[in-house]
Amino acid sequence: MLNKKIEDAINAQINAEMWSAYLYLSMSAWCAKTGRPGMANWFEIQFREEQDHARIFFNYVLQRGGEVKLQPIEAVPQEWKSPLDVFESTLAHEQKVTALINNLFALTTAENDYASQSMLKWFIDEQVEEEENAQNMIDNLRMIGDNGYGLFMLDKELAARVYSTPSPLAGK
Ligand code: MG
Repeated sequence: MLNKKIEDAINAQINAEMWSAYLYLSMSAWCAKTGRPGMANWFEIQFREEQDHARIFFNYVLQRGGEVKLQPIEAVPQEWKSPLDVFESTLAHEQKVTALINNLFALTTAENDYASQSMLKWFIDEQVEEEENAQNMIDNLRMIGDNGYGLFMLDKELAARVYSTPSPLAGK
């Protein structure tokens, strides 16, 4: 049985993951609108991954006999200044998500909830990757600067990104 404090915190995290999904869908729309189809694809995959994160928490609450309580999803930004701006916003956002996951882990430590800690370990590793991916994109964009050919080639590379189901949802 899931402790009520942890149940509430995970329900808040489900909402945060859905907000992330909505943010990345908005970024995908902005990239498509501004003629960067590869970046739009990259953010659409982010959108799907964030929905997966919400589903992992959703499944976990139910598995532990808890109650899922879905809350409204707040509005997200719709405009960015440049590809660099959109990826800097991505990194800043992922750093906030890392802090949320860390707070959740700290709560499970305080409550001696070892099962929740085990579940959260996947998210701790995932956040290392999320921050690294955003940072790599920022590094690439800074190197390219306003070189049109460089941006074109980067966009082509991002068009090749494919979605894969995260391991906690494999077979579900
Ligand atoms: Mg996430």
